[in-house]
Amino acid sequence: MEEGQVFPMNSGAGKASYANNSLLQKTVISKVRATVEDSALEVYFKTSPESMRIADLGCSSGPTALSVASYILDAILFQLKQMNQKKPLTLQVFLNDLPGNDFNTVFQSLSSFYERLKKKKKNDPICFVMAVPGSFYGRLFPNNSMHFIHSSYSLHYLSKAPNGLVSETGVTHNKGNIYITKTSPDVVVKTYLRQFEEDFTVFLRCRSEEMVIGGCMVLTMMGSAISNDPKHMLEIVGRVLNDLVSQVCGTITHLFSFVIYFHINIAKIIFGIIEEKSVDNFNVPAYCPTEKEARKVIEEDGSFRLQKLEVFQLPWDAGFNESKGKNDINNKYDRGKYISDYIRAVLEPILMKQFGESLIIDDFFERFTQKIIESIANENWHYVNLVISLTKN
Ligand code: SAH
Repeated sequence: MEEGQVFPMNSGAGKASYANNSLLQKTVISKVRATVEDSALEVYFKTSPESMRIADLGCSSGPTALSVASYILDAILFQLKQMNQKKPLTLQVFLNDLPGNDFNTVFQSLSSFYERLKKKKKNDPICFVMAVPGSFYGRLFPNNSMHFIHSSYSLHYLSKAPNGLVSETGVTHNKGNIYITKTSPDVVVKTYLRQFEEDFTVFLRCRSEEMVIGGCMVLTMMGSAISNDPKHMLEIVGRVLNDLVSQVCGTITHLFSFVIYFHINIAKIIFGIIEEKSVDNFNVPAYCPTEKEARKVIEEDGSFRLQKLEVFQLPWDAGFNESKGKNDINNKYDRGKYISDYIRAVLEPILMKQFGESLIIDDFFERFTQKIIESIANENWHYVNLVISLTKN
């Protein structure tokens, strides 16, 4: 995988889109709602801005993009009413994601968002929404301009797959894996951690320039309990990729060498078989830090005061019971498919880029569904989430 490539989620509003498969992320945001509201209220009442500037970094293209703005707006309006204050409230909402993100799908939901606002207040919209395409590992806003920054399920993406996962002599350190697993050597864990430390430090420095003193950030990211055995969903993705590789190796041993080339190419087209080296070279540009690792970066950087760092867990099928009422909640397959569908919305672009047409995506995710069902029965892994609440010094 080339450096510097993180891919936005599946675009549009179709069956495989992020917009239609983000109930897990919606559940995560709702769990953090109270922390978001408390921090935003604190900034608003301490800084009394004429126009409060808030941002959602890594907003993607689903309904979650505007949910934090709604929470904040409701919380401030409620508080103003309680205090009997007639002060006009103006919010500027900046939605950030990579330039390839499908911002149009978010824009299309804006009219209903504004309609809802008008019902709350009879004046013209008190909320102005705009997009800020660019990487959050660089500057996005003018100096001292932002009051509140939120980011959910985005900061575990690195700026790139770390350098150093292949030795100078061309040996792949993380052979057979696409992320850290318990079989990954130490060098892999350290290399990933170093990239996270570098990226997260850059992130904090940029935000600290952009935020007003007293401004707050609430950051939720996927984390791990243990660095060298994160028990992450990506391990299951790797297992499916390896099954597809083994399938071609098994075929090869039964053939004469002159037939192999022809056979592999036909097999690739028919069965969607992938090459071992494309799995070995594939390292997902993400890192799920432990609580201690995240805390260390924040403390060493020093631009923000750490108000709170909480960890909560969620089952892989969080949000399933809300899923369109079409699923049988006791059906293991439906549950596995639900998980597989939201992972597809996230990983399809990056998998297609890495493996191209040799990966038949429907088949891949059918196998993945089966592996998820097995893993739920035997391993009982779950998501570890870090919620970090920071104030600009
Ligand atoms: N916050 C949303 C989306 C999470 S998906 C939610 O909770 O539903 C993660 C998003 O982060 C993706 O849309 C991806 O494109 C974005 N992302 C990843 N790296 C990024 C970067 N460096 N800068 C901006 N956005 C990034």
